[in-house]
Amino acid sequence: MRAAVFHGAGDIRVEETRSPDAPRAGELLVKPLWCGICGTDLHEYAQGPIVIPTAPHPLTTACGSQILGHEFSAEVVQVGSGVTTVQVGQRVSVMPLLFCGTCYFCRRGLNHLCRTMAAVGLSYQWGGIAELAIVPAANVTALPDGVSDLQGAVVEPAAVAAHGVDTAGVRPGDNVLITGAGPIGALASLYAASLGANVFVSEINPVRADLVRSFDVGVVLDPSAIDVPGWLREHTDGIGVDAVIECSGNERALQAAIASVRSAGRISQTGLHTKAASIDPMVISEHDITISGTWCFPVTDWPRIIDLIDRGRFPVEKVVTAQIEMTDVVEKGFDTLLSPTGDQVKVLVRANQGSH
Ligand SMILES: [Zn+2]
Ligand SMILES: [Zn+2]
Repeated sequence: MRAAVFHGAGDIRVEETRSPDAPRAGELLVKPLWCGICGTDLHEYAQGPIVIPTAPHPLTTACGSQILGHEFSAEVVQVGSGVTTVQVGQRVSVMPLLFCGTCYFCRRGLNHLCRTMAAVGLSYQWGGIAELAIVPAANVTALPDGVSDLQGAVVEPAAVAAHGVDTAGVRPGDNVLITGAGPIGALASLYAASLGANVFVSEINPVRADLVRSFDVGVVLDPSAIDVPGWLREHTDGIGVDAVIECSGNERALQAAIASVRSAGRISQTGLHTKAASIDPMVISEHDITISGTWCFPVTDWPRIIDLIDRGRFPVEKVVTAQIEMTDVVEKGFDTLLSPTGDQVKVLVRANQGSH
């Protein structure tokens, strides 16, 4: 089968690779349909291996070259023994996290914080940018007719965004600032709007700002042109916003988040910072501000996100700015997304002919 395989930094090849054998008990053989390229994949390509294991992974034994892709929809080709939840021919969205089920965190339902967590497409034998893959049946949720193959591939980043917004306790009528309109920030703006929040987005990149503006979910502000915290206070009777979802991983955005949130307000740190950021803890104390980190998503969130998409409340496909073929994944996917002048937000890769 054909797959996009990571061999090292700057070395991703679309090549013929060994097809999976028949699925074992509890597993599915699937045909990936669409697969997103994520910031984690870009980090691996630019500087990896980072998450991709260089010694056998304790949970999956995966090691070395890695089939990429952890945000994907797929069609079930064959079911292993004991699988009763899905049938051959059904379309599914794959929840990519793999966890031990027995560690301190798994036993408390915090599987996304499993001490030996692995992920399909990063630290597992199979991935979504491939013509075939094996996944545990417990990791898939069937897609209803109202959810497209394309939307099914955006459930994963949508779940990340939703976890950020949910952690900030956003309620209908809240004023919510989202800093950064990359894929996660853009999805967070759609999700916060679906909850009935008043959405503000700050984004410096005009292409990304225009994309979110096209969603018509709120006001998009340019932090290089205006003082965002000052503007928000002016428009909230001097109070500030109820919650901020920091999706940029940028120091100045985190500082703006703290300066924008109201007393007793909540900040979700959802974007990943790659270096330390300087903040003033006195402001956090003085204003009773809560800052919470969020990592991935609750692994049980797929049915809820898919239902929101099905009911038209969460149009996740709006963040997709390009749909490309697997053969073009390096040039039109990774290289374009890493280019400083790149104008792509979310690129989806067609893993098999006939995906629509
Ligand atoms: Zn991802
Ligand atoms: Zn665990």
